[in-house]
Amino acid sequence: MKVELTVEPLGSWIDTNGKPLIIAGPCSAETEDQLVETARQLKELNAVHVIRAGVWKPRTRPGSFEGMGEAALPWIQRAKAETGLPFAVEVATPEHIELALKYGVDILWVGARTTVNPFNVQEIADALRGVDVPVLVKNPVNPDLALWVGAFERLAGAGISKLGAIHRGFATGEASKYRNVPMWQMAIELKSIFPQLPLIGDPSHMAGKRAYLNELAQMAMDLNYDGLIVESHIDPDKAWSDAAQQLTPAAFGDMLDHLQIRQVESQNLEFQSFMEQSRRNIDNVDRQIVEMLGARMALVERLAEYKRDNNVTLFQPDRWKEILKTRTELGKKLNLYPELVEEIYKIIHMESIRKQTEIIHSATQDV
Ligand code: PEP
Ligand code: MN
Repeated sequence: MKVELTVEPLGSWIDTNGKPLIIAGPCSAETEDQLVETARQLKELNAVHVIRAGVWKPRTRPGSFEGMGEAALPWIQRAKAETGLPFAVEVATPEHIELALKYGVDILWVGARTTVNPFNVQEIADALRGVDVPVLVKNPVNPDLALWVGAFERLAGAGISKLGAIHRGFATGEASKYRNVPMWQMAIELKSIFPQLPLIGDPSHMAGKRAYLNELAQMAMDLNYDGLIVESHIDPDKAWSDAAQQLTPAAFGDMLDHLQIRQVESQNLEFQSFMEQSRRNIDNVDRQIVEMLGARMALVERLAEYKRDNNVTLFQPDRWKEILKTRTELGKKLNLYPELVEEIYKIIHMESIRKQTEIIHSATQDV
């Protein structure tokens, strides 16, 4: 069953004055002082809309700090009272939801290790039936878009409409400088499935290291994300979880000051006319690309008929090697990303083989 997603705009549940939503706070609530002091310093930046804190920590391996649990919830109440800022907490079970709501947590999020499991997500959705609370869903640990989509469908099916997506990157098994590879196209695809869904970047869990936070946060802003969630701790090096990726509130303030937030639309007439002209030029080039693909395929078809009539084998490895080599070399000269031309030609070649097989096959049927 496909559920149509009814999503309320971000502005209906949090006022950011048209700016990107900024969520910040420690990976984990560790002590009352650590939490309240971090929240206080973040509030002083005058740029943070929501404080985050992990209370129940789903750890991949046992033995790491698993969160303070219910004991941390009164600290959240105190931090809320002192800062006046709403709080977001990760929940993974109906019991977490009940406790979080009992202590006045304002926003819930579903973690990456929970989104992977449809049973857990359904339990969460069922527990939230009839509750009017914003729920953010992190992407699943592995790059499986359907699980992410499914989580939103389950929550929407339970009547939750204040929804948002948190993009925290993916474990792909491939070596990368980042802890979790962003795979930006996954989030962009999610956004094209659910255009109304607010999208929040989590550079902290993508980066794994402080040094990469700026570039990832900037990328999210350049891609027009609706907000950021960033881990901040008064004493990051001594944090009980995710120490290497957390920033002091002051360093986080610095990072925000240096972020360039581009406007989606500009009122400037010169800019608008330049953009229109550029789009027309791009449309034109795209039309030529597709026409050329059509022309190439027509040549391939004619060649296939010729091969068929002369009993020549369809796939000739040397020719394919030469195509790949010459086309990628040309791409390099034109400053194209090395894998781009190669990947495009692999697809074109696959389609040529399919088409040629079809032609040869249809001939055998005719005789
Ligand atoms: C977190 O936000 O601290 C966390 C555990 O993140 P994730 O679910 O993205 O790993
Ligand atoms: Mn964390």
